[in-house]
Amino acid sequence: MLGGKGANLAEMASIGLPVPPGFTISTAMCTRYYDEGGAFPDSVRAEVAEGLAHIEGITGKLFGDAVNPLLVSVRSGARASMPGMMDTVLNLGLNDETVAGLAQGSGDERFAWDSYRRFIQMYSDVVLELDHGAFEEALEIAKEDKGVHLDTDLSADDWKALVTVYKGLVEDQWGKPFPQDVHEQLWGAVGAVFGSWQSERAKVYRRLNDIPGSWGTAVNVQAMVFGNMGDTSATGVAFTRDPSKGDRAYYGEFLINAQGEDVVAGIRTPQYLTKAAKDEAGAKAPSMEEAMPVVYAELAKVFDLLETHYRDMQDIEFTVQEGKLWMLQTRSGKRTAKAALKIAVDMASEGLITEEEAIGRVDPLALDQLLHPTLDPEAPRDVVAKGLPASPGAASGLIVFDAETAEQRAERGDSVILVRVETSPEDIHGMHAAKGILTARGGMTSHAAVVARGMGRPCVSGAGTLAIEGKAKRMRVGSGSSAREFKEGDVITIDGSTGEVMAGEVATVQPELAGDFGTLMVWADKVRRLKVRANAETPLDCQTARDFGAEGIGLCRTEHMFFEAGRITAVRQMILAETEKGRRAALDKLLPEQRADFAAIFAIMAGLPVTIRLLDPPLHEFLPHEEAEFQEVANATGLSVEALKQRASELHEFNPMLGHRGCRLGVTYPEIYEMQARAIFEAACDVAEQSGAAPIPEVMVPLVATARELELMKAVIDGAAQAVFAEKGRTLDYLVGTMIELPRAALRAGEIAEVGAFFSFGTNDLTQTTLGVSRDDAARFLGAYVEQGIYAKDPFVSLDVEGVGELIEIAAERGRKARPGIKLGICGEHGGDPASIAFCEKTGLDYVSASPYRVPIARLAAAQAAL
Ligand code: ADP
Ligand code: MG
Ligand code: MG
Repeated sequence: MLGGKGANLAEMASIGLPVPPGFTISTAMCTRYYDEGGAFPDSVRAEVAEGLAHIEGITGKLFGDAVNPLLVSVRSGARASMPGMMDTVLNLGLNDETVAGLAQGSGDERFAWDSYRRFIQMYSDVVLELDHGAFEEALEIAKEDKGVHLDTDLSADDWKALVTVYKGLVEDQWGKPFPQDVHEQLWGAVGAVFGSWQSERAKVYRRLNDIPGSWGTAVNVQAMVFGNMGDTSATGVAFTRDPSKGDRAYYGEFLINAQGEDVVAGIRTPQYLTKAAKDEAGAKAPSMEEAMPVVYAELAKVFDLLETHYRDMQDIEFTVQEGKLWMLQTRSGKRTAKAALKIAVDMASEGLITEEEAIGRVDPLALDQLLHPTLDPEAPRDVVAKGLPASPGAASGLIVFDAETAEQRAERGDSVILVRVETSPEDIHGMHAAKGILTARGGMTSHAAVVARGMGRPCVSGAGTLAIEGKAKRMRVGSGSSAREFKEGDVITIDGSTGEVMAGEVATVQPELAGDFGTLMVWADKVRRLKVRANAETPLDCQTARDFGAEGIGLCRTEHMFFEAGRITAVRQMILAETEKGRRAALDKLLPEQRADFAAIFAIMAGLPVTIRLLDPPLHEFLPHEEAEFQEVANATGLSVEALKQRASELHEFNPMLGHRGCRLGVTYPEIYEMQARAIFEAACDVAEQSGAAPIPEVMVPLVATARELELMKAVIDGAAQAVFAEKGRTLDYLVGTMIELPRAALRAGEIAEVGAFFSFGTNDLTQTTLGVSRDDAARFLGAYVEQGIYAKDPFVSLDVEGVGELIEIAAERGRKARPGIKLGICGEHGGDPASIAFCEKTGLDYVSASPYRVPIARLAAAQAAL
């Protein structure tokens, strides 16, 4: 109701921390504001008057008073933190009269006018939405005229002059003078905060983070405290632990004699909070620990108190006004996957949270960041610049200089690195599309750094030696003869863990799976009920899956094996054969190849179940296209190219996904499935013979709609098994089952279960056939469907629980009734999606199967689902 910021401000005040007084207009008011077409309900006006009186009572200052003016900040705050999305206005309540009062009361004229110019600039930008470039330019000119570099070098008179310039700019651009009425200022700001909820960048952020538009934002109105009152004042941001690596160390930046977002805006280089961090970075400017030891000690106590209170790592904003500490914000800190993992495991070990809570603290999808390769420390690298290690991980890609190009090239399948002087919320879509982000300006808490960490993109920020000319699409390092230039499209590599920027692509190595990762996985495995298998068919993928903890193979797609070099001609020969005899001749060539494939997989998965799906795709997918390919098949078969082309065109289908595929191939050409079954059983017997650990083949028939189809195919498979067992003189346990991927199969699951020993829900096809949406053609309209809320998420990524899910529930129930204890699993893309996994847990499936890199994600998600 109060939004994250408002709720936590109230909470901090209630546990006795120093928080400037204020009040919160609830999120419900934002919703009402929009319901009423952008008008303020009367009750809000009354509440605001009451709130102001409350602040006036505590501070002894009066809003709009010429002698002792109250200044406030107007801050947004939604339920979920949306960094950088909503704009804040500071120093509100200043006008030509109150600025004099502020100067008089503080005895500091410079401070008063600095505050006033900040207010006009912010208000013009956020509320009046004027072009802020003009304001920045005016400031630059003022500094140039004085021959100074830093804002802090300007005097009261300089600021006064700038205020006049600013007011002129407002009048020019807005057509009216800058509002002098403090109440008009206040309502303008409140309206702007509400308005920013529907800004494009807020919408993009919500879409990327699944935040409903109906939540609305709260508005916090709070008495100002001033970090810009000279050298005993400061403003800063901090994390109670390292948000990048997760180490237990205070972490943050601050600036003396500064206000608000100066720290994150990259106006001056911020100073470190702790001496240790400063020394490690080799920075010259003193840390807060050294420059303000007393306040620092107080702040450190607050950090500890907040961590124990919230039982999580906190992201904090604070201001020091003339030696007195004020807390302005706390929230659970965004962190990298690596830090999330370390913090969760550490906090459980420290006894701050339980093991089960630790499991819940790590976003399974974020594990992805840890499971991917990092730069090979041995690989040669051509380092051209060094910035701050703002978000870990390595990325290589083509340089792009703007968000639009990043998005366009990523859509075309390019890996891109977004290179900017600094990023702003307008760049979010480009950052999302990029593999990595590189900026020339900004610290560890800059926009680029915070957003990249949240998105899991590697980021190097503040690489100051880079001269980036975004418009000219060019970046230069060094000067004179050692100067190097990079253009759009040149390849670079960034290492977000070291801050290095390298020319070209650098080799990578596999991640470390022990340590905290291993610990959390052990905890997850303790509470998880669902088994986790992998979708894999190559020995490499099977090995990766097993290393990641897969408990078997849930889907081995045999057609992938058909494409391998050396076999495709035999496959084509089989497809193009006119007779069974011709097909068998080709299948005889494929048998030893398939047997070798299966043997390799069984050896890796020794003792674990391996589900092998018999040939599934429409045959024409394997057809030759090029003349030379036809010629090769002609040579192998003795048929003419002409005849082969004729046969190929006969295989053409209007709607292949619903055509001659799946078990329909087995029904019409049983010899194909017979060969595959034979290869499976021969390989299984051989591996059992050699290793003593018998594999457990689960032979899976695809695209079954009726029990009769499965019956026919099962007879072929059982026949092959009996023949092989007789030849080899041994028997093996095996299962014959089916995929449930057609609605009819789900409905008639009872009969089908009488024949098949297991079901694997093939949710890719089941989604296609249930929704009547072709996965390959959906891109054109699914986006609009999700945007308009027809489907909450892409149903091919996250299971349509209501529709497809109901079919799964029906099939599970009817299948179990016919065959108690029937083995149930899921092998679509959804098997690696945490929300879908939660559904599988609820439905009581036995296992989920996901791509190898998703296995750990599935293990963690399954544990979370079980809790
Ligand atoms: P965001 O949601 O973008 O972090 P905030 O509302 O936290 O925006 O405001 C940004 C910054 O403005 C804060 O970090 C703080 O430094 C400054 N600020 C906000 N309110 C006050 C206040 N009452 N007094 C002094 N500074 C403030
Ligand atoms: Mg902000
Ligand atoms: Mg803030």
